[in-house]
Amino acid sequence: MQAVVLRAPRDLALEEVPDPRPGPYEVLCRVESIAICGTDIHILEGRHVGRWPPAFPFILGHEWAGTVVEVGPGAEVFGWQPGDRVAGTSHAGCGYCRMCRTGRYNLCERYGDARVHRQYGHTTQGCYAQYVVHSIKSVVRLPDALTFDEGAVLDPASIALWTAKRGQVNAGDTVAVLGPGPVGLLTAFCARALGAGRVIVVGGGERLAVAEALGFETVDRAQGASVDLVREATGGRGPDVAIDCAGTPEAIRQCVDMVRKGGRVVFTAVPHDEVAFPMQRIVLEELDLVGVRANRSTLEEVIPLVLDGRVPVGRLITHRFPLSRASEAIATFQERRDGALEVLMHPWAGGEGT
Ligand SMILES: [Zn+2]
Ligand SMILES: [Zn+2]
Repeated sequence: MQAVVLRAPRDLALEEVPDPRPGPYEVLCRVESIAICGTDIHILEGRHVGRWPPAFPFILGHEWAGTVVEVGPGAEVFGWQPGDRVAGTSHAGCGYCRMCRTGRYNLCERYGDARVHRQYGHTTQGCYAQYVVHSIKSVVRLPDALTFDEGAVLDPASIALWTAKRGQVNAGDTVAVLGPGPVGLLTAFCARALGAGRVIVVGGGERLAVAEALGFETVDRAQGASVDLVREATGGRGPDVAIDCAGTPEAIRQCVDMVRKGGRVVFTAVPHDEVAFPMQRIVLEELDLVGVRANRSTLEEVIPLVLDGRVPVGRLITHRFPLSRASEAIATFQERRDGALEVLMHPWAGGEGT
């Protein structure tokens, strides 16, 4: 099969590699559509070498949709068969450790142990390829009403839903989302789906204009101190929930600074720097701070929200490329060319992107 192989940090090449084979409780899938994730870029740049990936050569990618072409032993017990349309997600926990058995498989205690654990595109070969093997723990059925392109964006949508759930967004809450990238915008939709009364997206540039066009209130960080502006927009009180989807030290600190007394702060972007926190405020104003690691079991839950339009993943898809032009697709995503949000790649397409 053809795959885009990372041979070393920043060294990507389209190569012919052997087709993967499904093992017990795995399915071999033909990949129809792939979404590029910010984490792919960090891995590509070598920011996590040794952990993600553990070794080279490596196939990136964990957001995809496609069709089952072969089922490994045992997968048929759970009803899987060739022809099933599926969407993938990255974590497949061991199933035996305390975290897995209490439903928190994204925190598997055997994380990275290739004998019993998978995180596709991170510790295990990913989906920038014509075929991928996945555990049946990390695929869900894709309804016929959703396209493969929409299916490829279900994984980030599921993370957005998990993010909003971790923030315990309640009906009528005011929620601030910092960072209007794909995950930020999806999180804004999910916060609204959970009943948020107001969703204020904080950011700048073209992406903030998209947030506004999608119907969210916006605060432009170029217009002054974001914390003051959000406080002002909430009658001086601050939002009930502040969610960081930017991952910068500034945005992370602003979330903690702007949230109301007793408010909840959620961190979903993976930060690369240490951030100093105002500990007296956190203690004396009883702030709840929570992290988010990918998702747990929200892939199935986000599908009905996508189907009925509450989480319109298709509206965030801006670019499509054949996989053979992966470098151009990645540059388009990374440099946010032409308003790029969700940039997709098609492994079986030839020729031009659209
Ligand atoms: Zn991702
Ligand atoms: Zn486990």
